[in-house]
Amino acid sequence: MLLIAVSPWRGLLLVVGFSLAAEGFYYLIRSLKRLYQQCPAQVLFFPVPVTCVRPLLLSSPGHCDCGLSHRESALSCLTRMLLSARHSLDVCVFTISSVELSSTVVVVHSRGVRVRIITDSDYMALAGSQVGTFRRAGIEVRHDQDTNYMHHKFALIDGLTLVTGSLNWSAQGIFGNKENVIIIKNSDIVKAFKEEFEQLWNEYDPAKYSFSSKK
Ligand SMILES: [Zn+2]
Repeated sequence: MLLIAVSPWRGLLLVVGFSLAAEGFYYLIRSLKRLYQQCPAQVLFFPVPVTCVRPLLLSSPGHCDCGLSHRESALSCLTRMLLSARHSLDVCVFTISSVELSSTVVVVHSRGVRVRIITDSDYMALAGSQVGTFRRAGIEVRHDQDTNYMHHKFALIDGLTLVTGSLNWSAQGIFGNKENVIIIKNSDIVKAFKEEFEQLWNEYDPAKYSFSSKK
């Protein structure tokens, strides 16, 4: 019989090392699972059946008894993508009237993520616009100042991931229309959209409003 003498300190180190390795493995699996859940596809198609994403917005998993379906869909995927923001969320979308997506943006903001919204001045004045919701939450919103439309539909997550396509953030777009959204991480493409966002953010600075000087 072979006996291996293990000092108490070495035994303790072995236990600690094993625990750390097990914990690291657990977090690796959880991260991979979360990554997969964020968006298994690079392309999302709409419309989706009317579904509820409220459970995704709760700080702790909870039951929602709204009566709607809570199954995974392009909407839940988009919601997870937005919720994955850790540092910044820049949204540049023509129409934002979806309660689901605006609630998601407010949750992201409440987590300390810097959120900036650019939208169209004509459509932000229509019933259902969520601009008021954003401003009441303390989220800065900027908009164009002319009769041409600010017609973009894209968002940048942490300045690393681009979400873009035909989808307006509206119930009609999500639950009614044929729409597409693609998720892009290509650094050159993301960089171009970041520059576009920053250019518009600067151009639409309220300090530069010219309404009052127009005849
Ligand atoms: Zn629900």
